[in-house]
Amino acid sequence: MIPTTTTSNGLQMTENTSTFDNPTRASDYFGCMTFSGDTMLKRLPSDVFAKLQRTMSDGTPLDPAIANTVAVAMKDWAIENGATHYCHWFQPLTGITAEKHDAFLSPMADGSAIEKFSGGQLIVGEPDASSFPSGGIRDTYEARGYTAWDATSPAFLLKNPSGITTLCIPTAFVSWTGEALDKKTPLLRSIQAMSKQAMRVLKLFGHDHGVSHVVGTLGCEQEYFLVEREQAEQRLDLMMTGRTLIGANAPKGHQLDDHYFGAVPDRVLTFMAEVESRLFELGVPVKTRHNEVAPSQYEIAPMFENANIAVDHQMITMQVLKMMARKYGFECLLHEKPFAGINGSGKHNNWSMATSTGINLLDPRDDTHTNMQFLVFLAAVIRAVDLHADLLRASIASAANDHRLGANEAPPAIMSIFLGEMLTDILNQLEAGTPKKTKTGGDLNLGATSLPHIPRHASDRNRTSPFAFTGNKFEFRAVGSTAPVAWPNTVLNTIVAESIDFVATELEKKAGKNPSAAKLENAVKVVLKDVIKKHRRVCFDGDGYGEAWHKEAEKRGLPNKRNTADSLGAFKTKVARDVFSKYHVLSPRELEARYDVLVENYCTVMGIEIRTLVQMVRTQVMPAALRTQEELATTVSATLAADVDCAETQADLKSYVGLVNELRSSVTELEKLNAKHHKDDETEMHFLQATVVPCMQRVRAACDALERVTPGDNWPMPTYAEMLLMK
Ligand code: ADP
Ligand code: MG
Repeated sequence: MIPTTTTSNGLQMTENTSTFDNPTRASDYFGCMTFSGDTMLKRLPSDVFAKLQRTMSDGTPLDPAIANTVAVAMKDWAIENGATHYCHWFQPLTGITAEKHDAFLSPMADGSAIEKFSGGQLIVGEPDASSFPSGGIRDTYEARGYTAWDATSPAFLLKNPSGITTLCIPTAFVSWTGEALDKKTPLLRSIQAMSKQAMRVLKLFGHDHGVSHVVGTLGCEQEYFLVEREQAEQRLDLMMTGRTLIGANAPKGHQLDDHYFGAVPDRVLTFMAEVESRLFELGVPVKTRHNEVAPSQYEIAPMFENANIAVDHQMITMQVLKMMARKYGFECLLHEKPFAGINGSGKHNNWSMATSTGINLLDPRDDTHTNMQFLVFLAAVIRAVDLHADLLRASIASAANDHRLGANEAPPAIMSIFLGEMLTDILNQLEAGTPKKTKTGGDLNLGATSLPHIPRHASDRNRTSPFAFTGNKFEFRAVGSTAPVAWPNTVLNTIVAESIDFVATELEKKAGKNPSAAKLENAVKVVLKDVIKKHRRVCFDGDGYGEAWHKEAEKRGLPNKRNTADSLGAFKTKVARDVFSKYHVLSPRELEARYDVLVENYCTVMGIEIRTLVQMVRTQVMPAALRTQEELATTVSATLAADVDCAETQADLKSYVGLVNELRSSVTELEKLNAKHHKDDETEMHFLQATVVPCMQRVRAACDALERVTPGDNWPMPTYAEMLLMK
């Protein structure tokens, strides 16, 4: 079964107490801050409950007649649990969530007041949308946007550390013309598209009985760093950009491999426990926590869920991590590359498809080679990734992820699939003709089907692949740690929908719509043989980090878009417009809007980084360096005045002045480049990538060289060693 956010109404929450202060069994309070499960059952008339349940589980349209009843029940529940305000909680194109709080309180004519919340207010909101990026969809004179209740994702109570509680209602955000201004709307459309096509395959195999639809399943592993809040506040770069723009490497990084899975430091563990506790209350099924590879780096991972809910829960997880870190005196850094020279952070996007009855469609189950249906879905995914590798690559492109992709510790920018030995062997057999046997666990050739068979364990681990099959799901590892996962999943679902459509159509052509088992098997063999032949070039089980793979990928004709500027263009192609509009995920205008917003975002992020870097150099590093220069010069003259030779100190001074000059000239150059005007954002993006990024690296190199030879008490900000290792 697919786990859903079933809840209990266990704890009655009062202001300023939390489950963390009064620990009980997590299962007692799991989901107590969500309006779902038991809470709904207890508070709604049974017919209303049944209708709402149907919308939540099957996505059937919501009956507007029940909205008022639901709204009143939701309001009472929220107020009893300390809420004073409600908000429509949505995911605009900014990359974070948005919320505008409105009080339940309504003044009455006689000077008194009551708490009110209507069905209308629950279902539709009308935030002034003019300040959200729309990529030109919505001009300011028609600034109205609408938020529409997504009843499939439970409303929840978000409580800040001071106990202020707000009812958050997950919503989609659209323009008055109905165009998507957010990330949720296209995600829901893409899941629907995938469902429609996958149902055709299930029907061919006669496995559609009792299945109303297919859902995406998703589990996201979130990596993050914790640093002392006090130190972070002394770093303009961390405060403004989320990453260090300068900073020399500490003498120790992760060479000793002593951090990964190491003992979690006490205060960090307490922080994690409270984060988990809060997330349990919110119905987020977090499961795993551990130290990550880099010093001060950690991971939190949930149990997978229905993709739409998992996406909302992922956004909540990031928000709770940030919020709780401050309570414990930490700053939580979600950035893809907060520190140069040590591991960055990703967000492994574990993805699969499942029937409404809970069958995972990417689970090989029994003998893989005979599980034709599994092989059909697998082949469709392989085809999708090969055909639309550039879209998948673009879906994870951002200025921040540029520092990570292709670097030594993160998957390369070449989109390839890791399948593992067992599936590779089956692919070979399929390509040759009929698959005969399933290879289990490496060397063992268990021809005899009577032996216990555990295909899952036959999939080995490959950490270097951006898109790896891990037994019964794909793990898209190239997603960045700050990324809202709705977008990469929208792209993935859409290209997979297209591919399943293709395969289903081919099968129907060859075998008819109601084929006999033999006819279907024959058709599957022919179609898959062809698909695999054409598209298996995207499969690669070797070392994705090695230079050899870059050469090999080039030979195979696989795209390798190394940075955002090079990759975003994929969204402007006819192929992209066609695939997104054919499956009603994004109209050409909506797609273009996303391209524009992504380009603009890249330029904005870079602009902030440039100004921050310039300011740090001009107001902190340069004055510190000049002070050091002066101290050295004073030492030299005092030594000479004492009639002592000090040629070595003079040489030190000379080399120090050389570094200061290099810093001055590179930062002056950066200022000049930053003053240039460009005819549009796209031109600016390419200029930033080609010219400004290398200049920023020069400034950084000069700063870091100075840091290594400047007395510690002259250096104006916390160092890498202080932030990462000296806790
Ligand atoms: P790791 O990759 O660190 O070894 P696991 O393989 O245990 O971790 O699982 C990683 C994530 O994959 C978890 O969030 C898990 O819930 C999720 N996951 C497992 N099965 C599925 C599935 N069928 N669909 C989506 N996600 C899944
Ligand atoms: Mg993983």
